[in-house]
Amino acid sequence: MNPSSPTETGPSNFIRDIIRDDLKTGKFAGRVHTRFPPEPNGYLHIGHAKSICLNFGLAADFGGKCNLRFDDTNPEKEEQEYVDSIIDTVHWLGFDWEGRLFYASDYFDQLYEWAVQLIKAGKAYVCDLSAEEVRQYRGTLTEPGKESPYRNRSVEENLDLFERMRAGEFPDGFRTLRSKIDMASPNLNMRDPVMYRILHAEHHRTGDKWCIYPMYDFTHGQSDSIERITHSICTLEFEDHRPLYDWYCDNLGIYHPQQIEFDRLYLTYTLMSKRKLLWLVQEKHVRGWDDPRMPTLSGVRRRGYTPESIRNFANSLGVSKTTGIVELSYLEHFVREDLNKRAQRVMAVLRPLRVIIDNYPEGQVEHMEAVNNPEDASMGTRQVPFSRELYIEQDDFRENPPKQYYRLSPGREVRLRYGYFITCTGVVKNAAGEVVEVHCTYDPATRGGNAPDGRKVKSTIHWVSAAHAIDAEVRLYENLFLNENPNEGDLIGNLNPNSLEVIGHAKLEPSLAAAAPFSRYQFERLGYFCADPDTAPGKPVFNRTVALRDTWAKIEKREKAA
Ligand code: ATP
Ligand code: MG
Repeated sequence: MNPSSPTETGPSNFIRDIIRDDLKTGKFAGRVHTRFPPEPNGYLHIGHAKSICLNFGLAADFGGKCNLRFDDTNPEKEEQEYVDSIIDTVHWLGFDWEGRLFYASDYFDQLYEWAVQLIKAGKAYVCDLSAEEVRQYRGTLTEPGKESPYRNRSVEENLDLFERMRAGEFPDGFRTLRSKIDMASPNLNMRDPVMYRILHAEHHRTGDKWCIYPMYDFTHGQSDSIERITHSICTLEFEDHRPLYDWYCDNLGIYHPQQIEFDRLYLTYTLMSKRKLLWLVQEKHVRGWDDPRMPTLSGVRRRGYTPESIRNFANSLGVSKTTGIVELSYLEHFVREDLNKRAQRVMAVLRPLRVIIDNYPEGQVEHMEAVNNPEDASMGTRQVPFSRELYIEQDDFRENPPKQYYRLSPGREVRLRYGYFITCTGVVKNAAGEVVEVHCTYDPATRGGNAPDGRKVKSTIHWVSAAHAIDAEVRLYENLFLNENPNEGDLIGNLNPNSLEVIGHAKLEPSLAAAAPFSRYQFERLGYFCADPDTAPGKPVFNRTVALRDTWAKIEKREKAA
C-alpha cells in the first residue's frame, strides 16, 4: 500500500482520524510508525493486549511499522525472565516487529549525553535534596512548589557533580539530576522533575556499567524520538506527562513524535496491574504467572484462550478519553465464539456414574461415528467405542426428577449422543443410600440416535464407554475475585476460595489419550477445555477454558429462588 494515500478501511476512531489527518497534511512525510513499550517488570496481561493490538494493528492497517521496545530503566524490578515472556507472548498473539526489537537501555549513553547537553544549556542541575525533601518542595495541586537551594549551581559545578555521580562516588539517593523548568507550573510534572537517580544496582542488560539511571520520564519520549516514532500511543495517565516529553524534545532540539493517549482496559473481577499480579504470585495465591486463573496472557493461553479471540475482543473495544470497565463475560463471548468454530467436540464425563445396559451383549463393542464439529464439516468424523457399561454425568440422572428435568430417571427414555435410546429400569445404591449404578435397556433399532417409529425423547446426554475411557485430571476455574471490582476493599478478603476445583478422575473418550498440551476441545455439553502442559503420557490434565451457557443451571437457580 502507498502510505501517502491510505486505502485503509478500519473502524473510525479518534486515533485513526489523527493519523489520517497527518497523512493528508504530510506531517510525518507519510510515515506511520508506532511501538509497544512494555516495562519488563512482570508478565503481560489482557490490558496490554489492547495496546498491542492497537499499535501493531494501526501499523498494519496504514502500511506502517511497529517496534517492540522494552522501557527498562528500573533495574531493581526488571528481569530477563520478563523480557523473554513478553517477547514470546507478543509473538503468540500474532504480531511481529520484523527485527525492530529495542531496549531503552541501548540508549543510556545517548541519554547521558543529552543530560550533559541540558546541564551545559543551564537547563538541568544536580540537587542534593533527599527524596523526601524533593517531595516537600514540590508543592501541591493548589500550592506552587519551592525552588531547591541547589537550583542555581554553576554549569561547571553541575558537570563535575554529575560526572562524579556517574563515577560512583555517592551512595544511592544521595543526589539527583533535575531539569530546571518551573516550580510554579500548574502541572506538577513540570516542577523540576528528576532526570537521573543514583542506584547501585545491576541491570539485566548493562550489568554494572551504570550506577545512575535515567527516570522513565527522561527516557520514554527520547526513545520514541530516537526510533522516529510518529504516533506515540499510550494510556491516559500519561496525558500530564506529555508537556514534559515535549519540553525535553524541544530543548534538546531533537525529532518530535506525537503522543496520543487512550483509555486503559479494565475488566470486571480482574486485576490489571503487574504489581498486584506479582503479589498474587509471590504470596502463592496462584500457582505462578501462567496460572490459568491469572489475567496474564500466558495464563489465559494456558487456560485455552486463542490469540484470535483475544485479538477480536481487543479490536472490538473502542478507544476513548474516558475510562470504563468492560464485563468479563464480554471477553468470554469472544472466546466461545472462536472456539465454537475451531475446537473439536469430544465426549468427556467429569463426575462419572456407571450405567449398565442389561440387554446389550456382553463383550460387544461398536464404533459409533461422531461429528468432530458440526460448524465445520471439513473437520470430519471419528469413531467412538460403545459397549455395555458406560459412564454418564451424575448430574444427568435423578432418581426423583424435579419438574422440567428431562434427563435420565427411572422409567424415562433418553438419547445417548451418537448411540442409542436407553430407558432406565432400576438403580443400585450403596450403604449410604447413594445411587452408584443405573440399569437400563436399549432399543437396538435406534442406532445413531433416531427411532424408526419417529418417537421423540426430550433429552440427549453424553457418555463414555467404561472399558475404553481414559482417566484425566480436570481443573475447573472460577473468578479469582468475588468482587466485581477487586481493587475495592481488601484484596485478600476479595479472593474467591473456590477459584480452583480439581477433579481427579474424569473419564474421557479414548481419542483424547494423545492430546498434546495446549490442544483445545469442546467437551460436549460441558464447555471448552484445553490440555495443560502438566499432561504426561497416559495422564492427561485439562483446564476448563470457559463453560457453555447452561440453561439448566439457570432454571434450577430460578426454581431454588422461588
Ligand atoms: P501495569 O500497571 O499493569 O504494570 P503499565 O502501564 O505499567 O501497566 P507497561 O509495561 O508500562 O505497563 O505497559 C506497556 C504498554 O501497555 C503501555 O503503553 C501501557 O500504556 C499499555 N497498557 C498497560 N496496561 C494497559 C491496559 N490495562 N489497557 C491498555 N493498555 C495498557
Ligand atoms: Mg509501568
